[in-house]
Amino acid sequence: MPASQNTVGIYIHIPFCERKCPYCDFYSATSDESEFDRYIAAVCSRMETYAQTIQRKVDTLYFGGGTPSIIGAKRLCTLKNAVSSCFHLDSPEITVEVNPAKNDFDFELLRKNGFNRISIGLQSANDNELQLLGRLHSVSQADIGIQKAQAAGFDNISLDLMLCTPQQTKDSLLRSIAFCAEHHVQHISAYILKLEEGTPYWQNRTKLHLPDDDEQAEVYLFACEQIENYGYKQYEISNFSQKNRQSRHNLKYWHDEEYLGIGPSAHSFLNGKRFYYGRSFDDFYADTITADGTGGDTEEYLMLGLRLSEGIRSERFKKRFGFDIPDIYFQNAEKMKKYGLVKTDQNGFQLTRSGFLVSNAVIAEILKND
Ligand code: SF4
Repeated sequence: MPASQNTVGIYIHIPFCERKCPYCDFYSATSDESEFDRYIAAVCSRMETYAQTIQRKVDTLYFGGGTPSIIGAKRLCTLKNAVSSCFHLDSPEITVEVNPAKNDFDFELLRKNGFNRISIGLQSANDNELQLLGRLHSVSQADIGIQKAQAAGFDNISLDLMLCTPQQTKDSLLRSIAFCAEHHVQHISAYILKLEEGTPYWQNRTKLHLPDDDEQAEVYLFACEQIENYGYKQYEISNFSQKNRQSRHNLKYWHDEEYLGIGPSAHSFLNGKRFYYGRSFDDFYADTITADGTGGDTEEYLMLGLRLSEGIRSERFKKRFGFDIPDIYFQNAEKMKKYGLVKTDQNGFQLTRSGFLVSNAVIAEILKND
């Protein structure tokens, strides 16, 4: 096991939402409170079982969803404390996703219990867009939420933005980006809205008048530029941060490092193996795990690493695998250079911003072995 993988990250899925947003494909249910405690007990029990076999320090803990804040700060602390009694926490980054519609959320309790990063699903700083997205919060609720988190001592806050949503214009997008910067948050994630089959958005796709591929590319490049103008540096296709404020947990995914995922639909990569829980409470309560092959080979490492702005660096690659980046990948990267999709130097290669827009195709070209 590479030295960098002596530690492990833990992801805990909180699969509850107040109501389902019409574009969303994540696994979550609109259960009532009675389900929360049963679920928490099941998560704690899984954790105790894993702790018997995983003797590794935990340096990132991420509560995602769903809407983790829906279960309340007290239950989140119960879960966090269960993790710390099962595992050795090593200067951990502890993140929780928060929905700003929950005005009575107790940020102070979280801060006192060691949580140190908040991720807020802002999506837009324009009320008309939030309504069309079916979001429950308003811009002013988001404003209050951020201020409360900051007053409680959180100095590592991320805001999510969505690009290419119904009725979004360049001006409205600029307002959303300015809102993030004016609130002095440390991190911004900006994702292009993706139509997921089976969602209400998918069914109504012709009526939504969403931008086509070329327009999406223009919006993406515009957003990247504007976010960087406010001093955030892009470090991944959709992620920007102030200095040293990248998401340590998400970097584990892109660096192809190991993590344990607990909850319905949560994926894990542990001891070289990938596995996941199915998308149902029944599967999770029955502890039904599906094996998903092995992970961590050079191809997977490149595939994930090329999502990062730094791309693939020789030194890191050698440290991980014990040998140099195979020439074929350098040669393939060189070929993509003339299209302006890749940059290379003697120590590695990375996708350009235009390359990010067609990342799957470019990565497939770089990985070609014939
Ligand atoms: S709150 Fe988040 S997870 Fe829940 S339905 Fe909306 S987008 Fe999906």
